[in-house]
Amino acid sequence: MPDTPPPPLEPLREDWDHALCVVAHPDDLEFGAAAAVARWTGQGKQVGYCMVTSGEAGIDALSPEECRPVREREQVESARLVGVDHVEFLGWPDGVVEYGVPLRAAIAAAVRRFRPQVVVTGNFRETFGGTNLNQADHIAVGRAVVDAVRDAGNRWVFADQLVGGGGDLQPWGGVGEVWAAGSPEASHGVDTTATFDAGVASLEAHSAYIDGLGWEDFDPREFLEGISRPTGQRLGVAMGAAFEVFPMGWGE
Ligand SMILES: [Zn+2]
Repeated sequence: MPDTPPPPLEPLREDWDHALCVVAHPDDLEFGAAAAVARWTGQGKQVGYCMVTSGEAGIDALSPEECRPVREREQVESARLVGVDHVEFLGWPDGVVEYGVPLRAAIAAAVRRFRPQVVVTGNFRETFGGTNLNQADHIAVGRAVVDAVRDAGNRWVFADQLVGGGGDLQPWGGVGEVWAAGSPEASHGVDTTATFDAGVASLEAHSAYIDGLGWEDFDPREFLEGISRPTGQRLGVAMGAAFEVFPMGWGE
């Protein structure tokens, strides 16, 4: 086995004040990114969460109807623990999200409502590194996020959402970058040493989901340490969260 250490990570920019996190499922942000969110909200930045599904197919022992309110409640609490009050659920069907124009429209509307400079999503590469294949909803949502960010800025795309087209929104072309949390192609990172505990608490808030996974002895703190310590080493700090950066072609 070659023994080359992973390349260093660049710090992510922090010269922004609104970020919208758009992910497929409740819990997607809590498996690593939430401690970075806690850092940002601690700096006074506004961060919103937009969940494409409610994760209602995520607990084997609960029907989707029973599961949906449980998972939405856990996500709202999990967000609160890292300083996020704005949590929306787009209501797409968990497990069978399809990439396409309707999904892009729904995400573009969320971007036009929140008007962020940064949009955070989850890893949408084929794997998480190695041979661990990614999940279909994650790939569909991440691809749609990148496209929807462009759509949001174009007044002739999804014009029915806009004032003058029947809606009450304005175009929003202010997103400079999309960041994919936990990507195996990550080039950037966030020092989460000071907010690591908040990140752990926000994962622990998904207790019904974690219990339902039936992973013997799953410990949120241990799990997050296992990801965050090696990432921190690449940043030269104790704990870190990694992101792949997609510039959205808006220069200054
Ligand atoms: Zn997920």
